[in-house]
Amino acid sequence: MQYLYSQGKRLALTFSYDDGQIFDRRLVQIFREYGMKATFHLNSGKLGTENFRGGFVTRDEIKMLYAGHEVACHGVEHRNVGLLTRPQLLRELEDDRLALEELTGSMVHGLSYAYGVYSQEAEEVARCVGLKYSRTTNNTHSFFVPTNFLEWNPTCHHGDPLLMELGQKFLDSPVYRELPLMYVWGHSYEFDGNRNWGLIEEFCKFMSGRAEIWYCTNGELCDYVTAMQRLEFSADGKRVYNPSAQSIWMQQDEKILECKPGEAISF
Ligand SMILES: [Zn+2]
Repeated sequence: MQYLYSQGKRLALTFSYDDGQIFDRRLVQIFREYGMKATFHLNSGKLGTENFRGGFVTRDEIKMLYAGHEVACHGVEHRNVGLLTRPQLLRELEDDRLALEELTGSMVHGLSYAYGVYSQEAEEVARCVGLKYSRTTNNTHSFFVPTNFLEWNPTCHHGDPLLMELGQKFLDSPVYRELPLMYVWGHSYEFDGNRNWGLIEEFCKFMSGRAEIWYCTNGELCDYVTAMQRLEFSADGKRVYNPSAQSIWMQQDEKILECKPGEAISF
């Protein structure tokens, strides 16, 4: 038996963009055009301010702008968590969650560490305030799902010279490899500053419309893998029960199996 992603897809692709600057508006359009799904990590304390690289998206537009994608935390004030006391760290993360939940009207469970800085303590505090995952800036050039979602290392930055090559390698993932995940991150202001919007358009176009890919947000990926890890197997491994609220997909020989929420299937 091998695991598959949602709807029996073999591969998953997700994007993560930090800081919530006005250039997110154009990036969201590109993602929409090509059917990509992304997570946008925002600093709630900076929304609507204009004093940095063209400014930040406004509080009023968040709900509409990011509809269909995921909004997640990046710290209220983009502080380096390594420099904060524990109470400051707690406020930096929890107040961000509270503000973004109010603005989006939905639950916010994700984080990316400002400056890519993290520590054991930051992970503990993130977990305590109900954050399920957090992205680092450690590029792996690989396609594994993380073993620790609070230290979620991405595949690569969009500016990586190997981006397209990695994309092809991801599509060519051998069939014995379970749950290949390509995770691309960056900042939308980089496309403006470097005048290279064509780069992300080219990559999205290359990846779009592929039946074998599950286009998902960071949170959807985290939720799916977490639900998969909760599956309960019989001692002989021939039966599996799914106690979660979403279907989990598997493949045995050539057959695709769906284990529905609250149900058990036999192999
Ligand atoms: Zn940032």
